[in-house]
Amino acid sequence: MIPYGRQDITEEDIIEVEKVLRSDFLTQGPCVPSFEKSVANYCGAKYAVAVNSATSALHVACLALDLGPGDILWTSPNTFVASANCALYCGASVDFVDIDPKTYNMSTESLSEKLSLAEKLGKLPKVVIPVHFAGQPCDMYKIHKLSKKYGFKIIEDASHALGSSYEKIKVGSCLYSDITIFSFHPVKIITTAEGGMSVTNDLDLYDKMKSLRINGIINDKKLMEIQPENEIWNYQQIKLGYNFKMNDIQAALGLSQIKRLDDFIIRRHKIANNYFKKLKNLKIILPFQSPGNYSSYHLFPICIYRRECNKTQKEIYEILRKNHIEANIHYIPVYLHPYYKALKFKRGYCPNAETYFKSTISIPMYYGLSYENQDKVIKIILNELK
Ligand SMILES: *Cc1c(COP(=O)(O)O)cnc(C)c1O
Repeated sequence: MIPYGRQDITEEDIIEVEKVLRSDFLTQGPCVPSFEKSVANYCGAKYAVAVNSATSALHVACLALDLGPGDILWTSPNTFVASANCALYCGASVDFVDIDPKTYNMSTESLSEKLSLAEKLGKLPKVVIPVHFAGQPCDMYKIHKLSKKYGFKIIEDASHALGSSYEKIKVGSCLYSDITIFSFHPVKIITTAEGGMSVTNDLDLYDKMKSLRINGIINDKKLMEIQPENEIWNYQQIKLGYNFKMNDIQAALGLSQIKRLDDFIIRRHKIANNYFKKLKNLKIILPFQSPGNYSSYHLFPICIYRRECNKTQKEIYEILRKNHIEANIHYIPVYLHPYYKALKFKRGYCPNAETYFKSTISIPMYYGLSYENQDKVIKIILNELK
């Protein structure tokens, strides 16, 4: 089976994890803060908070920005459900901004129009979550400008985009956002098995997110409420938080993996270039690359439009699967899932995201994909779509 994505684990990774298993700390020990520092340094952010998944990172990021009942969060429909669920965890409502048919990211034109309408209706969002789909950064400069005009906060969902750059600046620098979050799920750029991180340049947001991942607890004496002299208070719960901690076993794997991050991405670029070279004469649409940006190439989505091709998306998907190539679909528009449909969303709500969903296939893209296996994929696509 050739998957669409998978992790790459070396002997060195295993040794680093084993060291933790033989050490004094299994949960938060020295590896967690080291991994946080290493991600923050890599992307040029001041602070980082490691958690047990990107889903948790999104959740605490929303809470730190005081998202709550009565508030509205907007995101892209072309994403994993977690980018929208975080609003609902906080009791806020969620809405979707259609994608740009070229980049598959949230369209800044649609965002601008929707904001102007929402202002008139008194329904502006408190938080907007752009998603750097497939590793291709969103137009952050424009989104940031709109945030100043309409007063919303920005969380970048960079689950796909560790190692990507926007206009030569690393994603995660938070130059145009309040918080950026990353995922370390095995199919993502680097892995900790399960894991996520939020980065920010704002000390207050950092403190809030740090306490929210440990049940809302603080142990800084200066921040505690004063208690009677004869009692021992070495920690206090000041908020309702969660147990979202990353452990040292995961962080050790992350620390070992991040050493190879740039190699991972260079290899992904080579794979992408091979696809671009060999598939360029077909009538399918290959993923657009914005000239000012550098993509981590988390995914390689191709689009098969019924009118132009002799086979449908579904036929190609099934032929690939029959040949043990586990192609996938990224993404079913979030609001079409049964849970979201029950919330009032209807088919046709974001037409570009729906057209894209019905034509896209993510073909294999990961560090360990051999040229031999990649050529098998290419040969099938060439045969079927010639
Ligand atoms: C993977 C992913 C997430 C969630 O990541 P987990 O670490 O699995 O919780 C969120 N958003 C996007 C866009 C993702 O691809």
